[in-house]
Amino acid sequence: MNWFNHHTHSAFCDGTGTPLDFVKAALAQDFSMLGFSSHAPLPFNNSFTLKEEEVDHYRQTIRSLSYEYAGRLEIYLAMEVDFIPGMIEDFRFWKNRANLDYVIGGVHLVRPQADERLWFIDGPKRETYDQGLSELFGNDIRLAVRSYFDQLNQMIEGQAPDVIAHIDKIKMHNQERFFSINDLWYQAMLNESLTLAKQKGCIVEVNTRGLYKGRCKDFFPGASVLKTIKELAIPITISSDAHAPAELSGKFSEAIEAIKAAGIRELKVFRYGTWNSVVVE
Ligand SMILES: [Zn+2]
Ligand SMILES: [Zn+2]
Repeated sequence: MNWFNHHTHSAFCDGTGTPLDFVKAALAQDFSMLGFSSHAPLPFNNSFTLKEEEVDHYRQTIRSLSYEYAGRLEIYLAMEVDFIPGMIEDFRFWKNRANLDYVIGGVHLVRPQADERLWFIDGPKRETYDQGLSELFGNDIRLAVRSYFDQLNQMIEGQAPDVIAHIDKIKMHNQERFFSINDLWYQAMLNESLTLAKQKGCIVEVNTRGLYKGRCKDFFPGASVLKTIKELAIPITISSDAHAPAELSGKFSEAIEAIKAAGIRELKVFRYGTWNSVVVE
């Protein structure tokens, strides 16, 4: 199989290493395709997204690399765009502004209804998760998880991004403390989003980051969810959500094994400018 990764973050946002460092790492591992997906700018100061004034520089850097390495590595330009109601809702803005090849859509910041505050569910510290759960949701985990999936569903329904980032990221800092991924109410919420993804033609990624960073015991989504994905015939891809060149293919072999164990035989890859299927080997 030709190796690939369509979900990566360089020093243009919160990753380390230049895009060229990622290209070199990809070539050293015989990758065929590499996509850059910096976090799209947000309308407030933060430390993890691409800066708005850097968007053109980002676009030019990735496009120059793609010309320079043509014939050796297919290099694509993308962004991982956050969906936040009332703040960032229309993914066409960044798609057109930077002429992106594709868009990865995800929820990292949950905004409860009628609230200006945001619950950051990602990052290295579970204390941030716990604090938001307490302050914004009064420790009502079901309400908090419902808010995450409502926001995700609103994104899938309205924006239908090419790829849905880490669809069950909400489980990461939970670490089976406030709810179990086997709870029926939780599974029903996740299944609803998976069904919607299928209806809207979105690709669900199998994201290995939680596992190689030691923040989670399984992929996003995990092995049990892959069975549902197989039943619903949802198209999937695989990514490491690399934030450093060394993370480019982190836990890929394990992910491929889990995908095969679920009976899934095809992966979607962005190749020659469009999404194609490849057989899992
Ligand atoms: Zn993400
Ligand atoms: Zn990412």
